[in-house]
Amino acid sequence: MNRFFRRPHIEGQPDSADGQTSKFKPATPPVSRSGNGTATDGATGAAIMVPCPHCHTALYVRELEDNLHVCPKCGTHLRLGARTRIAATLDPDSFVEWDADVRSVDALQFAVGTHVYAEKLATAQAKTGEADALITGGGAIAGEACVVAVADFAFMGASMGSVYGEKLVRAAERAKRERLPLVTFNTSGGARMQEGLFSLMQMAKTTAAIVALGAAGLPHIAVLTDPCYGGVTASYATVADVILAEPGARIGFAGKDRIAQIMRTKLPEDSQTAEFQLVHGMVDAVVPRRELRQTLATLLALYRPPAPPPPTNAEHFDAERNPAHDTAPHAAPHETGRIPAPAHR
Ligand SMILES: [Zn+2]
Repeated sequence: MNRFFRRPHIEGQPDSADGQTSKFKPATPPVSRSGNGTATDGATGAAIMVPCPHCHTALYVRELEDNLHVCPKCGTHLRLGARTRIAATLDPDSFVEWDADVRSVDALQFAVGTHVYAEKLATAQAKTGEADALITGGGAIAGEACVVAVADFAFMGASMGSVYGEKLVRAAERAKRERLPLVTFNTSGGARMQEGLFSLMQMAKTTAAIVALGAAGLPHIAVLTDPCYGGVTASYATVADVILAEPGARIGFAGKDRIAQIMRTKLPEDSQTAEFQLVHGMVDAVVPRRELRQTLATLLALYRPPAPPPPTNAEHFDAERNPAHDTAPHAAPHETGRIPAPAHR
């Protein structure tokens, strides 16, 4: 409760020694409520209660965080930031980020009226603290080493621009080099139109990288989260070996209204939901967020590339006679120290 009703420290005044509220009222009320049902800590400005967007129940932020941002009343899966997703899914301290400094350039000098791409980009970077909408790196899920790519919808709607595509391709290529599976967490509003053709070409580029990964016998497991649209749905995310989706996630290419308008027809109410896509064969399973980590661990174990065969007698003899000669063609990725060792290998 201290967190909610903590007396704010007022510059130049000592805090009361016994922790009790002094006779002076705090400069701001302890809790303020806005019209949409959000309650904030008057001292820090941090939200302490937010309404569920579906059932409108007022939910404590801390309770929501403990429940992986799933409404405990109606089960709605709220959006999860990329960093929170990584922390909730990967083994503690196993994640090593790659290519964090790759940044978009405004190649087209895109500006329409008051919409200036360079400014939008700078605002998104300042707001999220990220360089772009996709975070990639190596890590482990329940001891299973893997490469992960996680999109963050808070960064310009996770639109797929040149940096998003480039980072995904680098992640897939590194997964191939290090003989690791690739897990992608996808959410996107579509292509980043401010980058024009540079954005659209990422569809072909990322798909080609995923195809090359598959040709090398390594799996790509895609998790589709709300919302997943446009170029991401239409490219690498839906050519995965296994496609999982979170309950209620909206998945499609163009929006429902646009399709209804073009086709001059009414779409089913539940079309473009994960459950609808499951029934129609576009996703393999709808997995609640709380079960996602275990499901991924099971899939990674099932898809684990076979261990290299033990050395033959002749190779063993050769290695003993000449220790400098390495009979193993490649050191396993976890042996290079770049990826944590899997628990059961
Ligand atoms: Zn709810």
